[in-house]
Amino acid sequence: MARVISIANQKGGVGKTTTAVNVAASMAATKRKVLLIDLDPQGNATMGSGVDKYEAENTCYELLIEEKPADDVIIKNTSGKYDLIAGNSDVTAAEIKLMEVFAREVRLRNALAKIKDRYDYVFIDCPPSLNQLTVNALAASDSVLVPMQCEYYALEGLTALMDTIQKLASVVNPNLKIEGVLRTMYDPRNRLANDVSEQLKRHFGEQVYRTVIPRNVRLAEAPSFGAPAMYYDKSSTGAKAYLALAGEIIRRQKKAQAVA
Ligand code: ADP
Ligand code: MG
Repeated sequence: MARVISIANQKGGVGKTTTAVNVAASMAATKRKVLLIDLDPQGNATMGSGVDKYEAENTCYELLIEEKPADDVIIKNTSGKYDLIAGNSDVTAAEIKLMEVFAREVRLRNALAKIKDRYDYVFIDCPPSLNQLTVNALAASDSVLVPMQCEYYALEGLTALMDTIQKLASVVNPNLKIEGVLRTMYDPRNRLANDVSEQLKRHFGEQVYRTVIPRNVRLAEAPSFGAPAMYYDKSSTGAKAYLALAGEIIRRQKKAQAVA
């Protein structure tokens, strides 16, 4: 049964989509079966997976609102060697229509129930807000991975986000866990980044991944090439960092299972 991980942070530009695409590809490279769901109407994860969002016939809209079977909406084996459920501007309409439908919080969870056994990991790239789409993602997930930039105010935002996640979880998904907090676009020469990073570790302890994602131009360039960074420049520090993150996620899961 797949482990379903939402990649969420209500702030935009913190590296959610970059993380979603590159961690999905890295997991797939370790021979895991991976599904990536692009729940952001911006469709950046779709484009970054080499799928033209303007051409996508089926998206999360068809899955959530028309209740088309997942089999009909999944795009197989994208440039990152994972399967994809695409996102584009139609998903904005889905967000609005969700308000009118039955069981609106659990549409995604119900849709995934039928296909979860085919994957090892399902990653959900969330929009930069805590809207009905994000509620659907959290309701469908085992855990949340929170990417963050080590900036001034980042901790404040993070504490607020964690509170919201916990409140939401208590209503729609009491078993939801924090998968981990990921430091993105990290520049070790920046003193403020180091300070915030230290505070973060003090505050969130083991929940902070050891793996740090450096600021790396290859990660920013890869989407225009239509593939995750490891297929654009596999020796780049960005590609290597996301491979390391995939390894850390797998090790953590094994450790948790050993304890349970
Ligand atoms: P979000 O999905 O949270 O809005 P993105 O993943 O789209 O964030 O990242 C925002 C911008 O920063 C994008 O232009 C992306 O290419 C760039 N970016 C993300 N991570 C890195 C990184 N580690 N190094 C350099 N650029 C990055
Ligand atoms: Mg994004």
